[in-house]
Amino acid sequence: MDDLLRLDREHVWHPYTAFPPAVPVHAVAKAEGVRLTLTDGRVLVDGMSSWWAAIHGYRQPRLDQAIKDQLDDMAHVMFGGLTHEPAVRLAVRLVELTGLDRVFLADSGSVAVEVAIKMAIQATGRTRLFTVRGGYHGDTFECMSVCDPVNGMHHLFTGALAQHVFAPPPPLGYGVAPDEGYLAEVADLLKRHAHELAAIILEPVVQGAGGMRFYHPAYLRKFRELADEFGLLLIADEIATGFGRTGELFGCDHAGIRPDIMCVGKALTGGYMTLAATLCTAEVAERIGLLMHGPTYMGNPLATAVANASLELLGERPWRQEVKGIEAVLAEGLAAAAPYAKDVRVLGAIGVIEAHEPVDVQKIQDIVMERGVWLRPFGRLIYTMPPYACEPADLAMITEAMVAAARSLR
Ligand SMILES: *Cc1c(COP(=O)(O)O)cnc(C)c1O
Repeated sequence: MDDLLRLDREHVWHPYTAFPPAVPVHAVAKAEGVRLTLTDGRVLVDGMSSWWAAIHGYRQPRLDQAIKDQLDDMAHVMFGGLTHEPAVRLAVRLVELTGLDRVFLADSGSVAVEVAIKMAIQATGRTRLFTVRGGYHGDTFECMSVCDPVNGMHHLFTGALAQHVFAPPPPLGYGVAPDEGYLAEVADLLKRHAHELAAIILEPVVQGAGGMRFYHPAYLRKFRELADEFGLLLIADEIATGFGRTGELFGCDHAGIRPDIMCVGKALTGGYMTLAATLCTAEVAERIGLLMHGPTYMGNPLATAVANASLELLGERPWRQEVKGIEAVLAEGLAAAAPYAKDVRVLGAIGVIEAHEPVDVQKIQDIVMERGVWLRPFGRLIYTMPPYACEPADLAMITEAMVAAARSLR
């Protein structure tokens, strides 16, 4: 197995790294329940849900079975001119869950955002977008152009990215009363650019990879109002927030609003396969007409079959209580990190320790792995979004490891 890591180091790129990566990678032999087993025998509770996705945990018997059953029928057929049961069932299910009407199946979150932006441009005939700083919408070029310009490393691609209109980030704090001054500033900026704007694109209530920031749902309601007032579409990027993570099924549910276009991904397949979707209203679909997009693996039967199984399982599990329970345990467990951190915050099944300075990723990983936990900090953030299937004892291991990591900061 030393061989595996040596070959990895010689040939394999990993996400957001130089070559070879500055922080060593670890080889996983198996993943089951909420635990990863490394090839060296170490067993780690997964505090990351494989980047928001594995909400039910690993080797979930019904999800495993859904893929095996689908394999007996077909692994894949093209979606141009053909259709199949798992894709149609998934589309119907997503329509029921979101209250939107039309579904475009994409092969990753970034592609779903690209499609959403194409939809908005085609529907309005305008090409600029309005967003807030601190966002993250994926790594392809148009997605990057609406990510936070600093965190999103825009300077590496100066000249190659479309220039969109950025408002300041919504003030921090899910429970912090909305700042009227901020709202007036945003309304003014929107008004000045409305004539050239196609859409407002936002992550509802939680800005994920751009900084793990939570904001008051009133801001989201205001963005919906402003979009209506100025004739813009509202795109909700629910790729991280979707499927219960924030305590509601979708981030938009906190504000009781419906977007015109919505992106889902990540937990859509319960972390089994890459799949995402872009949904829109019937009215937007009508305005678009011909939509020029069609991934080769669009509607992949294995991915849509496991997404159906994952959403069925989500519908059956008491996810609302589970997420509330995780929220309570995280809030209580992470409170001890407060003296060492700039901020400690929890919303739904998301727990964040924000340090004063960027953290030493390797040092933090050594500390939490010693305590049997897998986390992947970035920037100033040590954070967790555990599988909903975590037991209280698993969560206690995660919070204790995070607090130990926070203690090492000072
Ligand atoms: C992860 C993420 C994306 C990109 O999804 P990929 O599947 O990694 O391409 C887009 N938007 C948000 C909010 C995300 O969290």
